[in-house]
Amino acid sequence: MSKDYAVIGLGRFGGSICRELSREGKQVLAIDIDEAKVNEFKNIASHAVILDSTDEESLKEIGIHNFEHVIVAIGDSLQASILTTVILTDLHVERITVKAQNDYHEKILRKLGVDRVIHPERDMGRRIAQNIISNNILDF
Ligand code: ATP
Repeated sequence: MSKDYAVIGLGRFGGSICRELSREGKQVLAIDIDEAKVNEFKNIASHAVILDSTDEESLKEIGIHNFEHVIVAIGDSLQASILTTVILTDLHVERITVKAQNDYHEKILRKLGVDRVIHPERDMGRRIAQNIISNNILDF
């Protein structure tokens, strides 16, 4: 079964991506190790599964390589995020976006060949700073 997107980790960041993609009418598979999180997304995403993404066999079983774009939004556990990413690259997932927690995490992700690395807090901070500057310019 081929679907468009898979989001691994349904915290605030992954959950928000999942909601927005679904709102835009995209096919999204929501994945989390936590049953309560998965239940929360059953009626939001097209599909939702409880799964440990560090388990290669589980990812193979759901046919993760068929997804066009997989978003890894595991925050706290660098180990789980990195291991999940290694599995996804080994399985030749076409497009992978990963949430990085810090520069060290980003460096490892880049070494793994991930071209889409996001630091939500840092990126949003930069954007807001730019907004503040442009608003100030408009004010003058
Ligand atoms: P946010 O700021 O986006 O809420 P966070 O930093 O709090 O994120 P975490 O709680 O560490 O992020 O992880 C986000 C989600 O990833 C959680 O819902 C957690 O259950 C899930 N998660 C963690 N490890 C795994 C794993 N191995 N497989 C699948 N999901 C996982």
